[in-house]
Amino acid sequence: MKNFFRVFSLFIVISVLFSCASNPYAPTNRMYKKQAKVLTKQLRQIPPEQTGIATTLPYGENWVGTTNFNLRKPNYVVIHHTAQESVEQTLKTFTLPRTQVSAHYVIAKDGTIYNMLNDFYRGWHGGAGKWGNNTDLNSSSIGIELDNNGKEEFSKLQIESLLKLLKVLKEKYNIPDANFIGHSDIAPSRKVDPNANFPWEELAGEGYGLWYDEAVAIPEIAGNSIILDLPTIVEEGIIPADENEIIAKVATINSFTMDVSPEIALRIIGYDTSDVESAIKAFKLHFIQKNINSVLSDGELKILDNLYKKYFY
Ligand SMILES: [Zn+2]
Repeated sequence: MKNFFRVFSLFIVISVLFSCASNPYAPTNRMYKKQAKVLTKQLRQIPPEQTGIATTLPYGENWVGTTNFNLRKPNYVVIHHTAQESVEQTLKTFTLPRTQVSAHYVIAKDGTIYNMLNDFYRGWHGGAGKWGNNTDLNSSSIGIELDNNGKEEFSKLQIESLLKLLKVLKEKYNIPDANFIGHSDIAPSRKVDPNANFPWEELAGEGYGLWYDEAVAIPEIAGNSIILDLPTIVEEGIIPADENEIIAKVATINSFTMDVSPEIALRIIGYDTSDVESAIKAFKLHFIQKNINSVLSDGELKILDNLYKKYFY
């Protein structure tokens, strides 16, 4: 019997060693574990550690810990494209400490999902993003990276896996429909991911993100195609190439007026409008997905008008 246990323990040790050896990420997985330990230690500190000015606050004589709490939950999902050549390249990028970037999930073109970070940890995928008045999306969101070179289509298998993952996250954390957004939405002047091929409309149809009513928008876009096709207008000299002049000119061409200014409507949706032109481009990348410039045609204004009310109510 003793021998049996010896052989059995040896078997366990060998299989553990082998499973480590077969995973090329074993060294960085150990770094993950180490970092998780540091953070756990921080959470276990009693009373909670105070630093800086917080140490001077008039605390009560005895520390009183509440008995009622759990972990904070993510409330947003931010979707990205990797702008890299392969999923292997992205896995490597996210396991090199000097890159300082990460995501909770990476989805390969064949639909394989890599869960690189516990949902409760803060990933480093959003950067200096802003959505509404939320200025720390990394703290409140799950980051999902889709393997894509930045220009190509997203594969069917990849979107299928994404939808399955979103279903799990939405149910688990009770994330509102409107809180499924893209990196370009939260960082309009810096980011253009996911690219214009991303199926936002399909996602919204499943409850991940909002979309405009087709009936409101489509006839107007068709009727307004001359304004949508801006390069042609510029080429034919109908309006000058300078963007500010284009905006002024298109504003006079447009006859549709909204209840609020486009800037306010974009702000209500969530866009950072400190740079309005970038906010318009980000809006068009997400909801129009063509002619991504800072001009809003009549048809596009109608889409914006339809959408901001959905975000408002
Ligand atoms: Zn991104």
